[in-house]
Amino acid sequence: MKDEREQTERLSGEGPPNERGPSLTPEQRDVLWCSATEPPWSGKYVHNHADGTYRCAGCGAVLFSSSTKFDSGTGWPSFYEPAVAGAVALRPDNSHGVTRTEVTCRSCGGHLGHVFDDGPAPTGKRYCINSLALDFENEG
Ligand code: FE
Repeated sequence: MKDEREQTERLSGEGPPNERGPSLTPEQRDVLWCSATEPPWSGKYVHNHADGTYRCAGCGAVLFSSSTKFDSGTGWPSFYEPAVAGAVALRPDNSHGVTRTEVTCRSCGGHLGHVFDDGPAPTGKRYCINSLALDFENEG
């Protein structure tokens, strides 16, 4: 967990769809800016077991670490906690007739996925995140 100040500074200086926006694919835009969900098992990071960091595809903010990634069997990359305190924002989502908690990037506001309470220890949380909303940075 890193200092939150860095994130807050990014926040104040950064608008929505930003510097990386133009390089996004239409599918990535659908997820990030229109809250679409990629089909299960379609994402390129579902089976990624490499060590590294997952950044927001929309703005580059560090969001998740491979050390908290686990195989949820759902077809989406799943993490039990964010890499940086305050990197993501949560809000109630009542779309599609179900009550869920949406996960967004705190820096750019992009939609990432949802968080559920059926994750593993130590948090019991399952951050179910679209691969299309992430950019993986290999550590090795
Ligand atoms: Fe972002």
